Amino acid sequence: MRPSPLFPLFADLPTLPGVGATLAKTLARLTGGGRLLDLLWHLPSGLIDRTATPSIVAARPHAMATLAVRVIEHAPPRSRRQPWRVQCGDATGEITLVFFNARSDWLMKLLPPGETRVVSGVVEAYGEMLQMVHPDYVVPQDEADEGGLPAIEPVYPMTTGLAPKLLLKAIRGALERVPELDEWLDPALKSRRRWPGWREALATAHAPGSTADLEPHASARQRLAYDELLANQLALAVVRRRQRRQPGRVIKVTGALAERVLQQLPFTLTAAQRLALAEILGDMAQPSRMLRLLQGDVGSGKTVVALLAMLHAIEAGAQAALMAPTELLARQHLATIAPLAEAAGVRAALLTGREKESARRATLAGLAAGEIGIAIGTHALVQEGVAFRDLALAVIDEQHRFGVEQRLALAAKGGCSDVLVMSATPIPRTLTLTAYGDLDVSRLAEKPPGRQRVDTRVLPVDRLDEVTAALGRMLSAGAKAYWVCPLVEDSEALDVAAAEERHAALARLFPGRVGLVHGRMKTADREVVMRSFRDGPPSVLVATTVIEVGVDVPAATVMVVEHAERFGLAQLHQLRGRVGRSTAAATCILLYAPPVTETARARLTVLRETDDGFRIAEEDLKLRGAGDLLGVKQSGLPAFRLADLAVHGELLACAADDARLILERDPELTGERGRALRTLLYLFERDAAIRTLRAG
Ligand code: ADP
Ligand code: MG
Repeated sequence: MRPSPLFPLFADLPTLPGVGATLAKTLARLTGGGRLLDLLWHLPSGLIDRTATPSIVAARPHAMATLAVRVIEHAPPRSRRQPWRVQCGDATGEITLVFFNARSDWLMKLLPPGETRVVSGVVEAYGEMLQMVHPDYVVPQDEADEGGLPAIEPVYPMTTGLAPKLLLKAIRGALERVPELDEWLDPALKSRRRWPGWREALATAHAPGSTADLEPHASARQRLAYDELLANQLALAVVRRRQRRQPGRVIKVTGALAERVLQQLPFTLTAAQRLALAEILGDMAQPSRMLRLLQGDVGSGKTVVALLAMLHAIEAGAQAALMAPTELLARQHLATIAPLAEAAGVRAALLTGREKESARRATLAGLAAGEIGIAIGTHALVQEGVAFRDLALAVIDEQHRFGVEQRLALAAKGGCSDVLVMSATPIPRTLTLTAYGDLDVSRLAEKPPGRQRVDTRVLPVDRLDEVTAALGRMLSAGAKAYWVCPLVEDSEALDVAAAEERHAALARLFPGRVGLVHGRMKTADREVVMRSFRDGPPSVLVATTVIEVGVDVPAATVMVVEHAERFGLAQLHQLRGRVGRSTAAATCILLYAPPVTETARARLTVLRETDDGFRIAEEDLKLRGAGDLLGVKQSGLPAFRLADLAVHGELLACAADDARLILERDPELTGERGRALRTLLYLFERDAAIRTLRAG
């Protein structure tokens, strides 16, 4: 149960004075949620300085001015389309206040002739005259002195159809309801960092006194960001601790089966692969459960590492499962693994939910009886009715396509099986910590030997003819090429249309040698095309981004990406990873349509300069900032409201240490600080972690 002091924060917006259903909806759209908390986490992005301007003569066009002026006279409009003008002045000059569609009685009351009013707004030049259209504030001097006109006003990210004043008022109202909460921070850390208390931090963040206060490193903002990161890290640590305490099993064998497969391989393992495998086997040999992430770029050779680990489980008399995000990938894994496994006398079978009933029944029986050693499949593996005789190792490929729940669901099939998660999305260390804080990490930073860097070129699309001419030459020389068509604003129909058009154009140039795959094709049809691309003569495969994940055609050496400026850095890197998978030289051509934004240009430059996935990931984070980390959603990374991982990375590391220490001292969070920390977890809705605590 959520602690009662937090109730007001989780109240719906219409509980605020002046916030009705319509405004609440607009605010919810803006802040991403309909509760007071969401509003409070909507922090200012700028400020307006309304410090008094000395005089009209000192006011500058296009700038904000706050002026004490005497109302001289009103000039009502002569036609409906004209504005109402009010002439005002001070000792140094005159200014016209301009109002469209305003009621005369209201204006006369607002600006009584002969009286002095303080007006604040943006000044514009109108011929020789200065004017102010719809001043933000018109107040009597004494009211202005009493705070009716803030000297500095926060400016918030806005949405259409919302008046800044209404947002400001709603946020002020919400701030008044903020409770005082017991401090959850370590006092030493708090004083060392000179951070304010939580309530004060929130108030300060909403009342910037200067632009320095808007910086992510301003102390109030840092404190709020830290709270969020601490909640994240503590929640992960709680869950991880519980998982570790569950008994695992000891898998300790001679490695004879794996050795048999190693003999079959046409290559030897790289040092990075050997190290990763040793780490995995070390975990498996422990009585506690393994929870490990195997991170490595596309083509870094994760699959073989996973296979060798699986064979250890099988040698121990148990079974292993490999779950992939798509059917295509599952089939591909089977094609790689089955022959190798068979050489070691191990049966591998596919389970995707698309098998014929009879085949499916046979597979299920084989799994239940333990005759099938390795199950490879999609999420169909975690469905009800799938039972293993003894699942000891669950491997999950491309984890970012799955949620944590599915990861746990597969592990649960084995009761206490070890879990190995494989990710081809190299993400920065900071993100690893937040997304996989509950996992140990092995990295394959080194590529298998003989791989050459993919020669990457960035070209404007008006050089398309040169590109197709070069493509023709490469085809004649025996190359296979991918041609990836742009993503069009989330519309699959448009994506497909663009791909079809390109397919038609290329097919005219290279008749009979151009294939097409896209997301709207039936899986079976797609596979026919993919197979003929893989096994057939040199050709071009036009594709939407369906080829992004894991397609393995080692003979493909050319990758053309159209409208590369529309893709994210990580995505382009993944696409490029489809080529350069053999010892043959490979080329990647990134076509862009000018004009491109500076960020897009920077992205393309990074790609041209490096093929190190981890470096690219770091650059990606820097370029996009965490606020706009495209792909964060699909990667299953938590979206932070207050913390920005691009700038608060150091805080994250600190929060991770903090969380570890907290649980060492007070594993159940029952002490005084522990209880405050529970409130923190509730505040950031890490309720699941608290349930875990309760379950013990
Ligand atoms: P990932 O799953 O990490 O994208 P894969 O496991 O599919 O990479 O490996 C990519 C290719 O590299 C495969 O064809 C694989 O057989 C090959 N490979 C793996 N390890 C090595 C190695 N040590 N030396 C040479 N080739 C390797
Ligand atoms: Mg793979």
